Amino acid sequence: MTSRFAFKSNDYYLSLIDWDDPADPIRRVIVPDLRELEPWGRLDPSDESAYTVMTGLEHKYNSTALLLVSNTCEGICRYCFRKRVFMDACQPCLQELDPAIDYIRSHTEITNVLLTGGDPLALPTEDLSGIIAALRRIEHVQVIRIGTRMPVFNPYRIIDDPDLLSMIRTFSTPQKRIYIMTHFCHPREFTDASVEGLGLLYSAGAVLANQCPLIRGVNDSPDILAELFRTAAMHGLVPYYLFQCRPSLGNYAYTVPVEEGYDIFEQARSRVSGLAKRVRFVMSHTTGKLEIVGKTEDRIYFKYHRAACDDDNGRFFWHRFNPDARWLDDYEEVIGDYPATMPYRLHGPD
Ligand code: SF4
Repeated sequence: MTSRFAFKSNDYYLSLIDWDDPADPIRRVIVPDLRELEPWGRLDPSDESAYTVMTGLEHKYNSTALLLVSNTCEGICRYCFRKRVFMDACQPCLQELDPAIDYIRSHTEITNVLLTGGDPLALPTEDLSGIIAALRRIEHVQVIRIGTRMPVFNPYRIIDDPDLLSMIRTFSTPQKRIYIMTHFCHPREFTDASVEGLGLLYSAGAVLANQCPLIRGVNDSPDILAELFRTAAMHGLVPYYLFQCRPSLGNYAYTVPVEEGYDIFEQARSRVSGLAKRVRFVMSHTTGKLEIVGKTEDRIYFKYHRAACDDDNGRFFWHRFNPDARWLDDYEEVIGDYPATMPYRLHGPD
């Protein structure tokens, strides 16, 4: 099955597994599960291709552009929503930097650029530095975000590379910060080495925030999630987003139904202090980032936290319960203040 969905890890991450526990959550993150072969989900579950203006550059939200700068990670999470990045025949990553930089320069509404992939920290520091230097020459780009799981998979990539830290020191200034968006999904991933790596990034001037999906068998319990939010806050990571696991190909066994997920999330939040409570439970849907904001006896409520179509920003709507729903599209009855068709702006090469 690894010919279908690649397996990749390293000794450090494998050493975190309790091999005596068949249900060990770290094992579940990284070791293939035969259920991945069940036919379910799509290779591009949030329709990123619809917002791709050129290979490796996405522009979905007005002020934010995404650059897919790397086609590899230090390990491959079984539940990854960008599995297509690791498939040879399907290469959505940036091929040429200059046209992407030209596009961002000519779109003055872009104030945020997110470097993603794959893992940008899997690039040689020199290459990453070149990309960040080019972005820093664009006046209207204020915040550069680096989405990375390197502090989890291989903190020594940070600890042992003074050039990386010096690059962050150079480009994360009091006027314009670099944000490092980490991906800790279980409290056991906070080891001494990972905490040391985070401390170095922080001391170099980066702002740190954590986001991860809700994954069946990994963090689908209020106690574990509460500990994750608390531990992140304790180490200086803003708990930012908890994502509904996307309906990616092979992901069914890793998903938690939306309504169950909301209950787990709220119970977890009720156990932590305000600093750890800043996290939002969201779904990265084709039409925008939806916050799952509440439930009553038979309804679940959503709000557009960020919408692809500006008119949808802040739009609030609800659906009748469907305890099996794992994605917005599973709610068949369209009610509440919800557009009958979901208009969204499509960016295309022309
Ligand atoms: S670190 Fe992110 S991009 Fe890499 S495999 Fe995990 S979820 Fe996918």
